[in-house]
Amino acid sequence: MKLERQKIGKLQMAVLVRTVLPMLVMGIVIIVAALVRTRSSLEEEVYRSLEATATAVAAGFDEMYEGDYVLVGDKFLYLYKGESELTGNFEFVDRIRKESGMDVTLFYQDARILTTLTAEDGSRYVSTGVHPNIMRTMESKQKPIRFKGEINPGHEYYISYVPLFNSDGSLTGMVGTAISADVVAREADNASRPVFIITILGMLIASFISIRYTRGIVVAVEGIQGVLSSMVSGKLNNEMPEKVTVRGDEIAEVGRDITRMQDAVRVLVECDPLTKLYNRRSGDAKMKHIRKEAATTGMPYVIAIGDIDFFKKVNDTYGHDAGDMVLKFVAEELKKLMSGRGHAVRWGGEEFLLFFENRDLVQACAALEDFLDGIRAARLRYQGREIRVTMTVGVVDGDPGRDTEELIKEADEKLYFGKENGRNQLVVTPGVEQPEYRKMLKQGQGQEEEPEEETVITIPDEYLDTDQLMQMLSDNAAFEMEKGGEKETEKKSDEE
Ligand code: GH3
Ligand code: MG
Ligand code: MG
Repeated sequence: MKLERQKIGKLQMAVLVRTVLPMLVMGIVIIVAALVRTRSSLEEEVYRSLEATATAVAAGFDEMYEGDYVLVGDKFLYLYKGESELTGNFEFVDRIRKESGMDVTLFYQDARILTTLTAEDGSRYVSTGVHPNIMRTMESKQKPIRFKGEINPGHEYYISYVPLFNSDGSLTGMVGTAISADVVAREADNASRPVFIITILGMLIASFISIRYTRGIVVAVEGIQGVLSSMVSGKLNNEMPEKVTVRGDEIAEVGRDITRMQDAVRVLVECDPLTKLYNRRSGDAKMKHIRKEAATTGMPYVIAIGDIDFFKKVNDTYGHDAGDMVLKFVAEELKKLMSGRGHAVRWGGEEFLLFFENRDLVQACAALEDFLDGIRAARLRYQGREIRVTMTVGVVDGDPGRDTEELIKEADEKLYFGKENGRNQLVVTPGVEQPEYRKMLKQGQGQEEEPEEETVITIPDEYLDTDQLMQMLSDNAAFEMEKGGEKETEKKSDEE
């Protein structure tokens, strides 16, 4: 059992790995892709607006101050645009900074003349130079440049440099606009947060549904496995759990097939192929069960053994097939007799063991007398010839205090007595012409009264082991399997 549990655990694990894990991986891929995509489109947007702002600043200077950018002075240099001095005039760049949130720098050649960038101590970054690579690129390209890097140590920026030209078309400087990389990263995080939350939620819901669904499958497989393993250990009256049968899928179909297989195996194992009565093995088990029940509940029961008279003659006279026909006829009559009263077993060749449940001796004998009358009156036809059948029956009152073998032996002795004394009769008390039960029958006792509840007989679990089952299956390989799903063993046999 421990081993089986482990197997189920593995199955559950395998199913989960194949359903939830891909979902988790997919979720992670979606989140990463969304992050990358958001960041790169945001970067593009940032560069564009940096460039637009720098261009607007350059245009703003042109509008406010006519003329070219000129550096004037000997010892101290001052930047002029046309007639106006720009050095120290931070008003315009500060206003742009305030409105756009971007740092703005006006370069003359590679030198910062006006800037909103400040050092730790609050002083402006004027008179510092741009990285030589930037200047070289600008000189060769003479077009706006995008750059991501540090301006002051430890602070990364997205920067756009837009060239400034004098009226003769020569490169005179640049306008640089910059925004902190931290700000952009924060914005990117904010933009991807909804995707992140929705993906995680979706993953959780999908995993929950998947786990629930696969759990249902695992539980159903567990149910089927339970029935199969108990079949293998010889129990053939298992009921397929509802969690399997209520499903509308192939698993439920498998469950139904296994139930049908179990029914077929039970018929194969419990019944005699010719007469479809219980075989001796299952009859034996049933009888032990009845004795046990009688011992605990005080239920009355009766055992009888019947044997067809001069059956050998039937075979000798009409052939073996005729004999088989007679056996089948007698079996059918016995099924009718025992229906609702107990069970009929093919005990030997033409010998039958009967056990009446919930019936006393008088009731059983009354039913047996009727049965014997019935077969006496029957005219069996075989190839245009008529066969008549009689039987001799020995009866013994059930007594849970005595061994079943002992009771059967007594019934057998009575049967033998009957055979020795004219056959074609019911023997209850050997040698007594008018036994007690007849007097009682005459007085109107022993009239059949249906018992309140029909007794259901089930074969005890320990009845078969796997080896026996396999042996039976191979012994009866040619026997056509019976279909049908009746639960009760008794009903099953009757139907066949
Ligand atoms: P008695 O009245 O003393 O019981 O005589 P009997 O001829 O019925 O008894 P006996 O034991 O001499 O013969 C039983 C015969 O039943 C012998 C056997 O060939 C035959 N028999 C046993 N099983 C089958 C079967 O499945 N089919 C057929 N056709 N015959 C069977
Ligand atoms: Mg016989
Ligand atoms: Mg016999």
